[in-house]
Amino acid sequence: RVKERGRGHYSFYQPQMNSGLLSRMKLEHAMRQALEHGRMAVYFQPQVHIGSNKIMGAEALLRWTDPEFGVVSPAVFIPMAEESGYIVTLGAWVLEESIREAVHWSTQGLPLQVSVNVSALEFRQTDFVERLKSLLVKHGLPAHLLELELTESILLQDAQEMAARVRAIADLGVGLVIDDFGTGYSSLGYLKKLPIAKIKIDQSFVRGLPHDAGDRAIVTAIISLGQALGMEVVAEGVETCAQRDCLRDMHCHFFQGFLCAPGLPAEAFSERMRSQGVAHDDDWGAGPDAT
Ligand code: C2E
Ligand code: MG
Ligand code: MG
Ligand code: MG
Repeated sequence: RVKERGRGHYSFYQPQMNSGLLSRMKLEHAMRQALEHGRMAVYFQPQVHIGSNKIMGAEALLRWTDPEFGVVSPAVFIPMAEESGYIVTLGAWVLEESIREAVHWSTQGLPLQVSVNVSALEFRQTDFVERLKSLLVKHGLPAHLLELELTESILLQDAQEMAARVRAIADLGVGLVIDDFGTGYSSLGYLKKLPIAKIKIDQSFVRGLPHDAGDRAIVTAIISLGQALGMEVVAEGVETCAQRDCLRDMHCHFFQGFLCAPGLPAEAFSERMRSQGVAHDDDWGAGPDAT
């Protein structure tokens, strides 16, 4: 309801909204502080080759633990950072941390790929490709060890310019990945025109496997589309052996999910990789129904 506040000042009296706005501003401020004070960390979630059960790379996932707000989910702070533009600063930091870590793996004899999420606003920066190139040079990372995850919507606006950018990145040797495939406003047309290396099946389609007929149909279709176009297919959010086995039967190439591991701190991920060398394929994730 409208409440009078002194002479000629009217405002909607909505305490929830005000406190919502206030806590949002506090959260936004805390987010900037968090990066400056080292409270942000990049975690790494293994990407597993389904055929061999071997970890081939990792997706970089940003984590924030705040003294006041506790663990803040990326689902909360990434959209907030996208709205305020702070994602450009945040994303640049994640990219450099990820490149640094991939170099670290390489020097340990682990040539793993690192896959970094890139938001629309970051990708739209006119100097994005230049900065990417200089980071690779600065840290000496072979371009093929880096992948960038984009969502379909990034490619739709200013399609010509974005397509040119995608090609420039592919020319560097960096892999391009379509994230959350099938959940956006896809036109599919871009798939045949652009040098896309991988598509990631969104976890909303993986969840119902192996029983849900609709999910099975969609996942089968995405995998054959990817294969026909010469792209590799990654399934996200794999939590059970039954889901993994189903995906293996469908000839999906890679999976990510809690079945193998959640995002891990860099040190824990490296530790896991060092032990993979001597581990048997069935040391993890192999339940009674695994073959
Ligand atoms: P995404 O890129 O699609 O990442 C996958 C999300 O699924 C991650 O959530 C991951 O922790 C979660 N996940 C992985 N395996 C499983 C599983 O088996 N079961 C379930 N239920 N979930 C699983 P997270 O880390 O909370 O990130 C959410 C989203 O935030 C990401 O979705 C991505 O869009 C965004 N994000 C995270 N880090 C960054 C970043 O550094 N930059 C940008 N631009 N976005 C990021
Ligand atoms: Mg992703
Ligand atoms: Mg995804
Ligand atoms: Mg997602």
